[in-house]
Amino acid sequence: MKKYTITDGELSSVIELAIGAAELRKEVQMLRKQLEKAEAHSQPYYQLCPKCHGQGIVSKPPLLAGDVNEWTGSESSYPCDVCNGAKTLLVK
Ligand SMILES: [Zn+2]
Repeated sequence: MKKYTITDGELSSVIELAIGAAELRKEVQMLRKQLEKAEAHSQPYYQLCPKCHGQGIVSKPPLLAGDVNEWTGSESSYPCDVCNGAKTLLVK
């Protein structure tokens, strides 16, 4: 029976493959940890309303265009039309 002798070149290829596999395993573990973190962050949470900043009211009438800065109206504040006065938003 002929004995197969591994050459130095083949040996270094095998070592390289083994190192590559170990690195991939480390990367997969890291990605799995990141995924777990991302999943934890995807839980619904409450956020301060970005329009009224948690006040529930705004001084601009809700139907006014965004580029209009002057209007006539007797009301000094209006319910926020984003959170409807809830002051917070549930982010999912
Ligand atoms: Zn609001």
